[in-house]
Amino acid sequence: MTDSIKKVTVLGTGVLGSQIAFQSAFKGFTVTAYDINDKVLEAAKDRFGKLADTYANEVPDASDGKAKDALSRLTLTSDLAAAVADADLVIEAIPEILDLKRETYQKLATLAPAETIFATNSSTLLPSDLKDSTGRPDKFLALHFANRVWQFNTAEIMGTSDTDPAVFAAVVEFAKAIGMVPIELHKEKAGYVLNSLLVPFLNAAAELAAGGYADPSAVDDTWRIATGAPVGPFQIYDIIGLTTPYNIMANGDAEAQKLAAWLKENYIDKGKLGLATGEGFYKYN
Ligand code: NAD
Repeated sequence: MTDSIKKVTVLGTGVLGSQIAFQSAFKGFTVTAYDINDKVLEAAKDRFGKLADTYANEVPDASDGKAKDALSRLTLTSDLAAAVADADLVIEAIPEILDLKRETYQKLATLAPAETIFATNSSTLLPSDLKDSTGRPDKFLALHFANRVWQFNTAEIMGTSDTDPAVFAAVVEFAKAIGMVPIELHKEKAGYVLNSLLVPFLNAAAELAAGGYADPSAVDDTWRIATGAPVGPFQIYDIIGLTTPYNIMANGDAEAQKLAAWLKENYIDKGKLGLATGEGFYKYN
């Protein structure tokens, strides 16, 4: 089964869905990108065009029109039945709303061929939260990408106790084939590997600065100099953008909510959202 994935359908053409679809097409797969209506698909066309430019500028082997060639392997549609009719793998990257995802899997269960594998890119839900809606828990798992897939190319792969090991292995091979480094999880874990490490790390850094113990630059200096790491936690905040960590903290316990309030008052409310806005904990040109 390991090289059985040839046709890929991505549901959702937002931030991550567009990147997953483009990366898969860039690596030679035939890709269908589905979104809810033609208006959204118009915006998606723009997104894919911009991704082609980004790849041409940032990805070493994307020169000589290779990034533009990827567009020719991408089909956009708002017809769900047609989108999944002959898909080997459906990657779902729709909004992080449990009921919306469940409804979508219930539709997919009847529309997609029985052998089609379903994968969710959900960051915060466990595949167990969704598996009963898929009609095929043995062919369902999480395949979780990081934002800017062409640069931060991990793909965390996490099944449930129902996932067929052959399906898991096929998705690991697919991840490799699209240029990702597969990170295999042996059991379900909220936050996968990356966020299980990163969230407590970033919270600890915020506690030091918000509590007045040390300035962000001193925290970063400590981390870089004493461990040899290339960047410190506040540089990481700036790279990710402050909004996502803020949302995670705001939904956390009382301590995390205090950190969220600090982040909001001192940075977010002042428009300091990180690298993308030119200023976060640091200023950028
Ligand atoms: P987004 O809001 O940018 O895009 C969501 C897209 O889904 C939109 O184009 C929307 O029109 C479409 N959509 C809405 N309802 C739909 C439906 N019923 N069927 C198909 N498409 C539908 O969201 P995003 O940031 O790309 O996140 C999508 C998923 O990826 C979430 O589960 C999120 O947890 C996960 N994720 C996001 C990031 C990130 O950095 N943004 C990183 C890793 C994983």
